[in-house]
Amino acid sequence: MKKTFPTFWHFALIMLFFIIFSMPFSLMQTWTPKSLSAWGMLLAYAIPMYLTIWATRRSFNRKDHLNYKPAYWTLLPLIIIVAYAFLIVGEFTIFLLPEPTGIWKKLFDALNETMSSIFNHQIAGFLMVAVAAPILEETLFRGIILKALLKKHAPYTAILWSAIAFGIFHLNPWQFLYATVLGLLLGYIYWKTKSLFYPILIHMLLNGTAFFTAQFTDMDTTEGLAQHLTGKNLEQYLVLVAIALGIIILAYYYFERFFAQVPTDLVLATQNPHKVAEIKKILPENIQLKSLKDIGFKGALKETGQTLKDNALQKLRQISIPYAVDAMADDTGLEVSALNGAPGVYSARYAGNKATYEDNVKKLLQEMSGKINREAQFKTVIAYSKGAKEYIVEGILKGHITTEPRGDGGFGYDAVFVPEGYEQTFAEMGEAEKNKISHRAIALQKLKKIIRQQT
Ligand code: IMP
Repeated sequence: MKKTFPTFWHFALIMLFFIIFSMPFSLMQTWTPKSLSAWGMLLAYAIPMYLTIWATRRSFNRKDHLNYKPAYWTLLPLIIIVAYAFLIVGEFTIFLLPEPTGIWKKLFDALNETMSSIFNHQIAGFLMVAVAAPILEETLFRGIILKALLKKHAPYTAILWSAIAFGIFHLNPWQFLYATVLGLLLGYIYWKTKSLFYPILIHMLLNGTAFFTAQFTDMDTTEGLAQHLTGKNLEQYLVLVAIALGIIILAYYYFERFFAQVPTDLVLATQNPHKVAEIKKILPENIQLKSLKDIGFKGALKETGQTLKDNALQKLRQISIPYAVDAMADDTGLEVSALNGAPGVYSARYAGNKATYEDNVKKLLQEMSGKINREAQFKTVIAYSKGAKEYIVEGILKGHITTEPRGDGGFGYDAVFVPEGYEQTFAEMGEAEKNKISHRAIALQKLKKIIRQQT
């Protein structure tokens, strides 16, 4: 099977694109007069980077949409504060690296020299550091790489990999650590806001700050902002780093709470209106359930699979794909041991296509008459889609089949099913009690966990 973008090799290829596209510009650079070299440097960075993005999208990521739209304005002040806290923590990681010696010292000096020559040229330097780099790097690392990783991996794994890729791209150990730490923030914000707006803004702010401090203060490029602010006082410096870490931790909790309340639409691919209330009660509060009617779906959902999972996925995809929405669909069956798992996937039409609940119960009791083994289980399978990613969860509740119907609550096979550890049938115990322990509740709790991880 072809591995989906992006794997390690895709990333290696992206780096190669950049190196190859940079070559002619680096050569040109050597012939350019010194006064123009900052503009040369800007072009030698921005054009290959643009071409790398273009080539990456053409080769692996043609259809994905890049979103630059602003959103969540109220978060702006906190995001600015957190950006600077990350800057201080990011710089601290450089401080932890050993003093460079030998060949490393040469590389370090060369890096600093390049940095100062960029920083010394006002307009071209500013355009490169505070405009081109943020837009282009965020587009590539967050908009393309992270977005694709989020479809394959759990969010925190995806963010970590994209941050490491961003670190490696800088091709030296000092910027690697700094960029990786910053990549975690940029990735987290991108994941939560689903837009490149804040990542670009943060990136611009931090690079712009570095640029202006180098322009207007006596701070040298090897020195971090926190180090500069605290002079050479190590204690003060460490206190500042600790405060920055504290701010990051508090802000993290705030963001988590904030985004847990952002409304998210979820279409319930079912034609059974009774389920809406039960599902609504269990799923996180920010989930806004939409019905098929709400999205303008008319007709009947096809349900022709051989298993509950097939059916759930079949129903889901009839909605999630054509309407391009996040959706969920469930399928439930009663599996009776003595009947080799019947009625199972055919629970709704056990006694025929037009069968009522009563017809089905009657047929079940007939099939079970005289049977000693009355073990049974309800099984709910839920298929859920978030963007292009699909998830399956299952809820199983064991119990037994009674010899005659008892109770008048509930629906379906409720009157003949007694859950394990209980005396009453589902129909006798009342809806509230049933909904606490039911197969659907178990599956929904699992779904809730998945949804929580994503929002
Ligand atoms: P559905 O996939 O949720 O439509 O369920 C298929 C059939 O399983 C229904 O028509 C009911 O007969 C039965 N069923 C599903 N859930 C329950 C339940 O909670 N109690 C009793 N019967 C159920």
